[in-house]
Amino acid sequence: MKAEIVSVGTELTSGDSLNTNSKYIASLLFELGIDVSLHISVKDDVELLKSVARDSIGRSDVIIFTGGLGPTEDDFTKEVVADVVSRKLVLDEKVLREIEEYFQKRDIVMSENNVKQAYVVEDSIALRNRVGTAPGYMFKHSGKIVVLLPGPPSEMKSMFELEVMPILKMENSSEIYTRVIKCIGIGESQLEQSIKHVIDESEDVYIATYAKVGEVKIKLISGKQKALERAFKKVVKLAEQNIFALSDISIEEAISDNLKSSKLKIGFCESCTGGLVTSKLTELDGASEILDRSVITYSNKSKMAEADVKYSTIEKHGAVSEEVALEMAEGLFRKSDIDIAVSITGIAGPGGGSEEKPVGLVYIAICTKNHKKAKRNIFAGDRKSIQRRAAKEAYNMIRE
Ligand code: ATP
Ligand code: MG
Repeated sequence: MKAEIVSVGTELTSGDSLNTNSKYIASLLFELGIDVSLHISVKDDVELLKSVARDSIGRSDVIIFTGGLGPTEDDFTKEVVADVVSRKLVLDEKVLREIEEYFQKRDIVMSENNVKQAYVVEDSIALRNRVGTAPGYMFKHSGKIVVLLPGPPSEMKSMFELEVMPILKMENSSEIYTRVIKCIGIGESQLEQSIKHVIDESEDVYIATYAKVGEVKIKLISGKQKALERAFKKVVKLAEQNIFALSDISIEEAISDNLKSSKLKIGFCESCTGGLVTSKLTELDGASEILDRSVITYSNKSKMAEADVKYSTIEKHGAVSEEVALEMAEGLFRKSDIDIAVSITGIAGPGGGSEEKPVGLVYIAICTKNHKKAKRNIFAGDRKSIQRRAAKEAYNMIRE
């Protein structure tokens, strides 16, 4: 495959900045065995970029653009390239939400301009930006691979390594082997640290971690099957305690499969998650085989009525307490014909927290015939993410 790199930005052509992106990309493409035949730097000029893009896409098999994906007026790489390949830009709700979350998390006001970044090239893969807000894009046009990456080197690098390289590797190799390991109950960086020496020593295997609300996916890719299996075994051993699946499924799917194969029935008693834990299960096909019931007991009164929580327990420990969580699970277990009862009570915020019981405090309890347990958690984030994390942790506890 023949590749070329098009770097967009007046700061590059004027001599204000050194074009480090194209050096970096070229050296990694070389490692993949992809021959880079051209490096082009173009200033921020729509007509000039259009003619360069047309030529490059006509000439090479892999065309990588960097820069000009941001929200400002002089960022138009996406618009120009989409125009050259006759594709529309369409609003991607998911990308919009991610950008909104990015600003919310950092407490910055989002400008109208940032919405521009949620318009994605039609029929393309939106590449996740872990460092900034501008997503990248990758798509095929008449058999050519076109990649658009943001200009800031840190954003470009992480996106290129984590999102683009695996796909290019696959495209450039006749045979490619992959393995997936799904983990929970551990952060992405901690997991990556714990398998770091395998990543470093397995030269022929590409190993990357991807995090999604509470779950971390480890992906292994290689053109050499034996090397892949060796690395896979090592990673499995190191991550053993946190693994819930050896395929690309969610924790809810893994739990659902488990319950089905062991013919077990489950029930939920939810307070602060308002049914979210249950809906994660009912979203899946065949939930009726395993789900008996779910009660949402938001008020103290309902906790007493639906789950037999004692008034004295609530009075003594408060509704958000280990004691009440346990009574909720035990009560539900007694009242229904189930094998596993799961309860959740917590403070999702933003109001209602105190020094002793802060926002994000969530108790989750599980009751089975011979076993009961409760766990105290403090989840970070806004109301929605606290609820989402609590739901994930509930499934993590069922797994354990
Ligand atoms: P942003 O959202 O930051 O505007 P962008 O994709 O529009 O992202 P640019 O505006 O082109 O990116 O560049 C942003 C920053 O990245 C600038 O400081 C620029 O100097 C730097 N940069 C861009 N391209 C390169 C490159 N090829 N090599 C090194 N630095 C670069
Ligand atoms: Mg910019």
